[in-house]
Amino acid sequence: MMPTVATRLEIVAPLSGVLVPLESVPDPVFAQKMVGDGVSLDPTTGDLLAPVAGTVTQLHKAHHALTITTGQGIEVLLHIGIDTVMLKGEGFTPKVRQGEKVDVGQILISFDVDLVARKAASLLTQILIANVDKVARFVPASGIAVAGQSVVLTLELSELADAAATVDVIAGNALTGAAVSLPNPSGLHARPAAVLAAEAKKFKSDLRLVRGADEANAKSVVAIMGLATQRGDAIKVKASGPDANEAIRTISALLADGCGEKPGAAPDAPAAAAAVRATPVSANELAGVSASPGLAVGRIVQYRQEMIDVAEAGETPARERSKLDAALHEARAQIEVLKSQLADPAKAQILDAHQELLADPDLTDLAIEGVSQGKSAGFAWRAAFSQYASRLEALDNALLRERGNDIRDVGRRVLSLLAGVKQAQIVVAQGSILIAEELTPSDTASLDRGKVLGFCTTTGGATSHVAILARSFGIPAVCGIDEEALNLEDGTLVVLDGSKGILYRNPSDAEIAQAQERVARQAAKREEELAGAAAPAVTTDGQHIEVVANVRNAQEARAGVANGAEGVGLLRSEFLFDDRDTAPDEEEQATAYAAVAAALGSERTLVIRTLDVGGDKPLPYLPLPREDNPFLGLRGVRVSLDQPEMFRTQLRAILRVARMAKLHIMFPMIATLEELREAKSIVAAILAEEDAAPGRSDVRVGLMIEVPSAAVMAEQFAREADFFSIGTNDLTQYTLAMDRGHPKLARKADGLHPSVLKMIALTCEGARKHGKWVGVCGGMASDTMAVPVLIGLGVDELSVSVPAIPAIKALVKRLSLAECRLLAQEVVEMGTATEVRARLAAFAD
Ligand code: PEP
Ligand code: MG
Repeated sequence: MMPTVATRLEIVAPLSGVLVPLESVPDPVFAQKMVGDGVSLDPTTGDLLAPVAGTVTQLHKAHHALTITTGQGIEVLLHIGIDTVMLKGEGFTPKVRQGEKVDVGQILISFDVDLVARKAASLLTQILIANVDKVARFVPASGIAVAGQSVVLTLELSELADAAATVDVIAGNALTGAAVSLPNPSGLHARPAAVLAAEAKKFKSDLRLVRGADEANAKSVVAIMGLATQRGDAIKVKASGPDANEAIRTISALLADGCGEKPGAAPDAPAAAAAVRATPVSANELAGVSASPGLAVGRIVQYRQEMIDVAEAGETPARERSKLDAALHEARAQIEVLKSQLADPAKAQILDAHQELLADPDLTDLAIEGVSQGKSAGFAWRAAFSQYASRLEALDNALLRERGNDIRDVGRRVLSLLAGVKQAQIVVAQGSILIAEELTPSDTASLDRGKVLGFCTTTGGATSHVAILARSFGIPAVCGIDEEALNLEDGTLVVLDGSKGILYRNPSDAEIAQAQERVARQAAKREEELAGAAAPAVTTDGQHIEVVANVRNAQEARAGVANGAEGVGLLRSEFLFDDRDTAPDEEEQATAYAAVAAALGSERTLVIRTLDVGGDKPLPYLPLPREDNPFLGLRGVRVSLDQPEMFRTQLRAILRVARMAKLHIMFPMIATLEELREAKSIVAAILAEEDAAPGRSDVRVGLMIEVPSAAVMAEQFAREADFFSIGTNDLTQYTLAMDRGHPKLARKADGLHPSVLKMIALTCEGARKHGKWVGVCGGMASDTMAVPVLIGLGVDELSVSVPAIPAIKALVKRLSLAECRLLAQEVVEMGTATEVRARLAAFAD
């Protein structure tokens, strides 16, 4: 029998103010009692007091709402204001922690009444009972309430449950948010699914993603991937529980923003044409899909995964459960180590997704279910991950099918820990070409790159994580290769052409010699370019073109200098602001900028671009409105001007390194002179207020030319700016009105289109009239085909990706300015990008 306790509960006013019926609250979620029933209060005080005694079972991370669960299991939810979650904690100071016991009248949260009133939709504070099924009758009071004294709500309780069992109750009716159109070009594949599940897990409510009749647990990566979503799918978030309302808002906003996936960051297959299966022209050619370009001549090493045996029956379920928990914990630690060995953060994200799989509730619940039925932890775990992997592998979506491999990879890691089998490190001799049915991302990440020249797998495709890793290591790879490759003997000499997607067996001596010569030629060319990279890039007729680097941090700046960079033409400062919960303060920023400046030395140019986020590049802690056209919205300098305090902090930090390098400050995405003037006036005000220290007056201030209005009005801008740097990635998308991340349009958004070249010509002409220099820091500067025309149009500086520096410098040294000018004059008059490309290809020959 359940114990029966008090049948009446009085809820005391948490704030002073006027009571308002819940039905009158201007938010349907509350007015329609979707979160719970109770009363609302228009407050005049700013200390939220506990209206009942109990335990704080949930404190929202934005600190504007919390739930107290009473000894009888009644969940009292206090929600300060409307839409206050958007303030992300600004103005709220929690005075208690989740899990803490509180007495009636104890201060729970202090908030700044004026600030919240100004910034939020309303101050109306809701006092709600989330588990309405436990209440037989609600009697809300009316009139004036005095904090800590007046009773605002009287509850007549229904049969009460055991108090101890009620804390984790998922209460209330399910709420469903509005449909969100999925922006991710490849749907919710592993990485965005992992971001979504991690965020969903922060909420206590049960959360589901709903698409038509299909539903998936939003806290489970495997379940989300199993939905097989696609760009444009209408997804709703369904929630039930004490924080359902906030969860719906947060998760819906995250979905609308692409779950942190930046444009162009979706699985980066090589050119679409190359992703098509190669066609063999002789029996000696084994064909597959190009997964990573390049050429290698090496000897075959066959690699097979070991079978791992586990007993079906377990010891006691409790013992097996603790073995499973320990193995999951150990696997997490192993993945962390592997992650620290990957230099590229984007690739490390693949392993983040693996971490998320280890904490996947659907996957672990299935394994635990097996354990509770008497199976061993290993047996139950293998059954669980195999079931989920097979489910993905059966989907009609190549990208998600390949994620089955990720589940098997994580699954095997845990399984080998449970079986006490050490996962074999792939040990090979120098000059090996690895052949496997399947390589897991972990196998690939731990390959000895000094010895493995390339690899082929019979499974997988160009978008598999294995392929992405191969590309980041710069070794050729072919996926989905003819199974005949598995029969090649260890030690056989072969030629692997990753670019064509072909493995050549039985090559003749002449073919091997030819391939080796090509490999050697490419390597020698790279070495020669690197050897000459320290010298300035001067054309045959004496024009110095400054070749500088695009970098994100000091490490890349050092690599740039080692590759011959004459400075940094674009420091993408947003990387300091990314992937964190709060903006970096002045000190942290100044330290990062100083490290970059120190890597360059005082004689090299350092162009720091101020924060370039917003729209398509959201920051979790920046409360920006959702936008229908993010590329045309608050983006680049517009965000900085909208958040002047953050902007000032960044400018102060930048100016602190003024004497360490030749400092240039650059504003992104300027469209009007007013924006430039406003941004410049903030720099001037900081310089004035800080008693301009020596050297600071030498700081140069310029702008990126990324918007057609700035290119067309370059002459006017050049009167007021010290320099321009053309962001051809954005300039191309805005000139052609083609989204740079659009799966169908991105390839047509060609910077070599005559319209974009005309914009560049206008920019150079405008700058020249006022003696200002022009750089290019978009992708075109690293494109050897585009460089002659950029120089011919009058560009003075090329800011390029670090690995491209030696080749670009070597190219400049082979060009003559006079010839480049003639070439530029010719191609800007052409009709299409195809014509321009044909002419430039002929020029290069
Ligand atoms: C550009 O738009 O060309 C550019 C360099 O900026 P980002 O690619 O960072 O938008
Ligand atoms: Mg840009």
